[in-house]
Amino acid sequence: MLSLLILFLNQVYSSDLNLHQRLTDFQQASSLEASLPNHPHQLLHELASSSLDMCEQLEKLSDKELILLDPYIEEFQLLPCFPSLMMKIEKYHTLQNTNILAESMIVEMGLDQLGITSQLSTIEPVGEMQPPFFSGYSFVNTDKGEVVYRKNLITGEYPNMSLEQGEIVFTFDDGPSPRITPLILDILANHQIKAVFFQIGNKSLKHKEWTQEVVKQGHILASHSYSHRSDLYKIPFEKAREDIDQGHKEVFYNSGSEDAAFFRYPYGGRTQKLAQHLYDSKISSFFWNMDSRDWAIKDPVKLYNHCVEQINRNQKGVILFHDIHTQTANIMDLFLKNLKQAGYKIRLAVPLKWKEQYEKAI
Ligand SMILES: [Zn+2]
Repeated sequence: MLSLLILFLNQVYSSDLNLHQRLTDFQQASSLEASLPNHPHQLLHELASSSLDMCEQLEKLSDKELILLDPYIEEFQLLPCFPSLMMKIEKYHTLQNTNILAESMIVEMGLDQLGITSQLSTIEPVGEMQPPFFSGYSFVNTDKGEVVYRKNLITGEYPNMSLEQGEIVFTFDDGPSPRITPLILDILANHQIKAVFFQIGNKSLKHKEWTQEVVKQGHILASHSYSHRSDLYKIPFEKAREDIDQGHKEVFYNSGSEDAAFFRYPYGGRTQKLAQHLYDSKISSFFWNMDSRDWAIKDPVKLYNHCVEQINRNQKGVILFHDIHTQTANIMDLFLKNLKQAGYKIRLAVPLKWKEQYEKAI
């Protein structure tokens, strides 16, 4: 009997230790930019399907560990401990946000390093686009109301290749989040900036009002699969195709707007067969060359400086953010203000079939 009890306690203890250990491993791997084991999202699902008491396990976590599970924890709103966990998370972010103001010297130093102060010259149109239209992009400078067309790219991937120095396209993945999407939308509106939002089908289904609001405010809606599986590129083709198609349909059905042509693979994981399927469906996959790493960096000062470092190194391209993280919303206003001051232009990638609509709108 005693040995059974010890066995039982051992199991509980080791699962618990596992959670702490695996979150620590994840955090270490994130800072080293190594491949990422134990994604917090996956850990939460494993915990939910285990026989352990989820609240008991989550309440044992330190603030730093708990914060790694934000925002995936939103999926578990029915847990009795959900309100208290959220309060803990919010409190942590409030403290971190005061940090960014207190440490403004670091921010200013980051600014100096931007180094691009000269005015960039006006970009001339490069002529009419040729079919296949779905694989092209147009870039709208929302500051001045000018529309700039660029040559289409054969596969539609790496749109940053047709951006010029000083041109940045903002993209936000994994939403909509009823908590963070509104904050991001307000900041973008204040700066008169438009972005591309790659939304997840099952989240759009739950929070369709924020899918609609993205479209209403003139941003470009795009899809990011139905369930955001990390193994999309490993599962049988038919299953993966279904997840992509369902996600695309769901997002645009909820938006009440016209189907658009952009898709982003969850975690960037793709296969040749999936790429062919997208091409056949006249959907362009859309990559990035600057990762804000806002999913891993919780400290807003570090996040801001990482973004600035990415900009310094690349000086043009597509930057990846997620409109589900508090720290993303916390740095966005300052980041946009300083990008503009440094002479950068924010461009919007618009599916070519929406070209006329955009010309009329601006
Ligand atoms: Zn994603």
